[in-house]
Amino acid sequence: MVGSAVGDAIGEIAFSYPKKEKLLKVIARVKELIYTDDTAMTIGLAESLIERKGVDQEHLGETFHKNFLREPWRGYASGPPSIFSLVRRTGISYVIAAKTLFGGEGSLGNGAAMRIAPVGLLFYRSALLYDQACASAEVTHAHPIGKDGAAIQAYGIAQAVSLDPQEGFPRERFIKNLISFARTSQIREKMEEIQNLLNEESPERRASERLGRSVAVHESMPFAIYSFLRYPESFEACLFCSILNGGDRDTLGAMAGALSGAYLGVEAIPQEWREKLENLERIEQLAISLYELSQNQ
Ligand SMILES: [Mg+2]
Repeated sequence: MVGSAVGDAIGEIAFSYPKKEKLLKVIARVKELIYTDDTAMTIGLAESLIERKGVDQEHLGETFHKNFLREPWRGYASGPPSIFSLVRRTGISYVIAAKTLFGGEGSLGNGAAMRIAPVGLLFYRSALLYDQACASAEVTHAHPIGKDGAAIQAYGIAQAVSLDPQEGFPRERFIKNLISFARTSQIREKMEEIQNLLNEESPERRASERLGRSVAVHESMPFAIYSFLRYPESFEACLFCSILNGGDRDTLGAMAGALSGAYLGVEAIPQEWREKLENLERIEQLAISLYELSQNQ
């Protein structure tokens, strides 16, 4: 949760400072690391999961909606606000409203995957993981690829939480598990592509071009997973790989930071970054509550 928020905040700065040396200087200079919609929605998802002990779609939609009205300046894409105003105007459910986007196909953007860390944490050892991830996605992302992408990111986080960094990182097993977990060909093929790129030791830049740099989930989340699998032992190296190769930088940082933080633990995130993170205590408290709840799953 903290890794995701730090990645989001630093990824957002990387839009203005896309070179590592300058970016490091700017991070050292700023008083506070300000997160964007990615973390605002992660917090909303965590709050709702804790209150309802799982995904309650209407409650989740209401929580997202309420948090958006309080902080509409967080950099939301157009989808969630359109859904919120449709629900407010017509009284239909969030899930039905989400299905009306993009000519009735629903969104396949990365917005459901970017916020999924709380689901990965709460259900990290539960057979409900896939369905709960999809249910959380459906409140804003109705397209099958949007949901599958969120579920894969959740499963990546769940695996990362379960592993012990002292034992060495089982890269082959990790990626094979993701390939067999995917339910759409678009996501599965990207997981296979990650495996090829890592085996070929392709440069980061080439990997980002091959995996995609758009805001669609199958053209962004795979590069976050690639960044983590390429640098599993370093939060900093994983994050910089994810945000310094173009694309949707804040969301790439949020997704890669979630994976790396889940695997390495909060201590692996540079202390100077953690201390500057806006709302750190609140985010840590939500993570602890989710972990405690996960022990009953
Ligand atoms: Mg954002």
